[in-house]
Amino acid sequence: MSSSTRDIYFVIGGSGFLGRHIVEALLARGDIVYVFDVVQRYHDVPFFSGDISEGEQVADALRKSGATCIIHTASPAHGLEDPALYWKVNVDGTRAVISAAQAVGVRKLVYTSSAGVVFNGQDLINVDERVPYPAKAMDAYNESKAKAEAMVLEANGVKGLLTVALRPAGIFGPGDRQVMAGLRDVYESNRTHFQVGDNNNLFDWTYVGNVAHAHLLAADKLNLEPPSEELLNHRRNEFSSTA
Ligand code: NAD
Repeated sequence: MSSSTRDIYFVIGGSGFLGRHIVEALLARGDIVYVFDVVQRYHDVPFFSGDISEGEQVADALRKSGATCIIHTASPAHGLEDPALYWKVNVDGTRAVISAAQAVGVRKLVYTSSAGVVFNGQDLINVDERVPYPAKAMDAYNESKAKAEAMVLEANGVKGLLTVALRPAGIFGPGDRQVMAGLRDVYESNRTHFQVGDNNNLFDWTYVGNVAHAHLLAADKLNLEPPSEELLNHRRNEFSSTA
């Protein structure tokens, strides 16, 4: 049981790698789930075909589903040479999702952001959410994700909507269509004979099931009062002494 009152979930991008794992995790605990996506890959949950940059499509599907919690995972893949597409989907599309949620009276919005929103090429070690967005983003993808994340967080508490954003780094696991394909492509095109840095570079990876689980926890906890600054500082000190 997720909370005393169960939510009805609306997973945007639910046909994707992470979105599908979130759908499966929700189904496994007996929740009601709808998927909204531009493509349909699965047929075991009710599906709405639509594009988030078309606000009316989102609002219409939200009304029909009766959803109380949106989990928004949709984005074009990283690495495309198409800044306009990133802006259209991630910025305009996320703005449309927020507006539709507020217009329909949805209670919760969980947004899948990215660790890349604070990365500008410099090492980031043991940092947390207090690190500001860089003046210059790494690329159009990260810039659009940062803008979308900021909009989602600013919408928290406005017109009855509660919001939260999560920032996964690299995600791996079954169903991935980007990371392993990219690594295989590098290998097959013989581009492996170079080294970046001193060979001690670190990068965070998280198993997709854990990222999905984090989304469910975030959705569940959105009902609660946020922790006090005192408790947050206590947790940060605990974390930095064990890291
Ligand atoms: P994915 O491409 O597998 O899934 C994204 C889904 O969004 C797809 O099903 C796609 O059809 C859908 N979508 C795209 N544009 C849409 C639109 N305009 N309207 C409706 N649906 C649309 O990607 P993923 O790897 O599962 O990533 C999910 C989220 O996690 C993304 O927001 C991404 O930025 C974020 N993220 C991913 C990684 C990673 O390593 N994969 C790392 C950090 C953050």
